[in-house]
Amino acid sequence: MLDQTLPPPLLHVHGVTLQYKTREHLVTATYRVDFIVHCSDRFVLLGPSGCGKSTLLKAVGGYMTPTEGEIRLKGARITRPGPDRMMVFQEFDQLLPWKTVRQNVVFALETSGKLRGRAAHERAMHYIHKVHLERFVDAYPHTLSGGMKQRVAIARGMAMEPDILLMDEPFAALDALTRQHMQDELLGLWEDTKFTVLFVTHSIAEAVKIGNRILLLSPHPGQVKAELNSVPVDAADASSSVLTALVPPIAKPESS
Ligand code: ADP
Ligand code: MG
Repeated sequence: MLDQTLPPPLLHVHGVTLQYKTREHLVTATYRVDFIVHCSDRFVLLGPSGCGKSTLLKAVGGYMTPTEGEIRLKGARITRPGPDRMMVFQEFDQLLPWKTVRQNVVFALETSGKLRGRAAHERAMHYIHKVHLERFVDAYPHTLSGGMKQRVAIARGMAMEPDILLMDEPFAALDALTRQHMQDELLGLWEDTKFTVLFVTHSIAEAVKIGNRILLLSPHPGQVKAELNSVPVDAADASSSVLTALVPPIAKPESS
């Protein structure tokens, strides 16, 4: 039980079971998952494909309701999506193709009611600069590389200045070099603004690089297997990481 005298944690996932009901089946994606994310955490959900990482992120995003347990943001139960939780996906097609880089970011700010007009424009430009895309503000998504599209999605998410940025394997579809570069950039952005991020990956190396805290989930249905609360800085050599020993099922060589 949480200490009632303390302010509520930023994000509290408490005993969360998530299920999909299809006509024939009941699929249990996660089973009684517990974790707490604090302000400025780089909190990583790590687990093999199919263990329910995306499902958990969807539930934090407010797109899915737990069948058991609850999720609270700053003490308030999450019941629907909101601009306090912005999502960045793996897919490169998450941008509006008929809008430029700048318009994509401005559109998110305006439709959510966060900012309008000049203020929205200025906020958008601020974050487009942060992801080094100032030369491409008027470009359309189809003219950008995969890495650049992901930068736009990150700028759009950060421009909303959400309480927590939700990232679902945002670099998984990139080539290895671009992926490393994007990881470094994300850490640079974090140094700059200390935003809170809940980051999903199936890559041990990526988890160790990105996370200051890592929650390890078991294969389907996802259950908490371990929680690492301080990831050593020199743990970049994932092969020597304690994680590798803990997770034989996902310790296989990575495809990207
Ligand atoms: P991960 O992101 O860790 O790869 P997912 O959260 O996508 O895992 O999926 C967890 C489990 O839920 C898997 O068994 C998957 O097949 C199932 N699942 C995901 N989405 C749906 C859906 N829309 N309908 C039914 N089952 C689903
Ligand atoms: Mg997934």
